[in-house]
Amino acid sequence: MKKHTPHHDGAQRLPSDPALQVMALESLLVEKGLVEQEALDALVDTYERRVGPRNGAKVVAKAWSDPAYKARLLDDCTAAIAELGFGGLQGEHMIAVENTPTVHNLVVCTLCSCYPYPILGLPPVWYKSPAYRSRAVIDPRGVLREFGLELSAHTQICVWDSTAELRYLVLPQRPAATEAMGEEQLASLVTRDAMIGVALVAVPQAGGA
Ligand code: FE
Repeated sequence: MKKHTPHHDGAQRLPSDPALQVMALESLLVEKGLVEQEALDALVDTYERRVGPRNGAKVVAKAWSDPAYKARLLDDCTAAIAELGFGGLQGEHMIAVENTPTVHNLVVCTLCSCYPYPILGLPPVWYKSPAYRSRAVIDPRGVLREFGLELSAHTQICVWDSTAELRYLVLPQRPAATEAMGEEQLASLVTRDAMIGVALVAVPQAGGA
């Protein structure tokens, strides 16, 4: 068994709506003098704009474009994302898992919601849901079908259970007809869901991208 440190949200006395919870917590913290409004603003800005799935998309696009980088990413993901300036809290021990024509990777945290914040930002609500956390392991093919992803019966599905110590990045397959694309354009195709493994990266529409 992997070691795991569950997270505690301590939200029992807060309102049930997440937005209200955040506002209530924020005003309480500021009122008690525990945090400065500026520090909170900087934190929110970090997760909204500087940390997010665009970071992961850059990593994927570089791996698609540069075979040596891809090799380094699969060998030592933490070091490879640091090359692009990404890392820090909850991204200290990263593992990249590569999708191939025969293997599809899916990431979950069965105990709570461990997630690679520095490259994917904040986890989506469904990632934290008890239904996803339990069913991704028991019936990954069925879960993927509900996300609209029907995999061939010949495709093997590997489910990776994140822990407080280990976070996973799915390296999706590069779609066909993207040979002429540069890294920036490729990155624009890569979605958060593809890097969690609940979606594929779609072939760009003709005339689009
Ligand atoms: Fe967790």
